[in-house]
Amino acid sequence: MRDESCIFCKIIAGVIPASKVYEDAHTIAFLDIAPFEKGHLLVLPKYHAPTLPDLPPEDLHRTIEVVQKLGRHLIKTLPCDGFNVLQNNGACATQTVPHVHFHLVPRHNSTPICWIPSSYPNMDEMAAYQRLLTYSE
Ligand code: 5GP
Ligand code: ZN
Repeated sequence: MRDESCIFCKIIAGVIPASKVYEDAHTIAFLDIAPFEKGHLLVLPKYHAPTLPDLPPEDLHRTIEVVQKLGRHLIKTLPCDGFNVLQNNGACATQTVPHVHFHLVPRHNSTPICWIPSSYPNMDEMAAYQRLLTYSE
């Protein structure tokens, strides 16, 4: 299921670019364009469901398995000491893109927690993070 007006469906379809780090038949993950920390990933089902309650359970199961794999991958590869998993539902919960997604935010013992969106200084650095975090089984 796809929504032509959805920005994440457009990324899934390859209509607009994203720094993709993982893809399988049902799930995709890419760098968040406005990260809380460098390496902040978005993991989402290809099925267009606006919020978590709309998502068929089998798509949720597949997506959360990828969240777990990429969490392990972040710890090992970035590396980081831990990570937050964040999943917003509805504008009142600060959801801005109505295609269900999980934020995976790397965290470091040495760095205070920050919930303010930032940016990569340039495309080269973003590409370097994409290369570093690209995951395949
Ligand atoms: P939400 O607030 O809906 O939970 O999170 C949506 C996230 O999507 C935000 O962190 C935002 O930075 C990210 N985002 C929005 N548009 C794009 C885009 O076109 N490309 C990428 N890579 N991230 C996006
Ligand atoms: Zn969508």
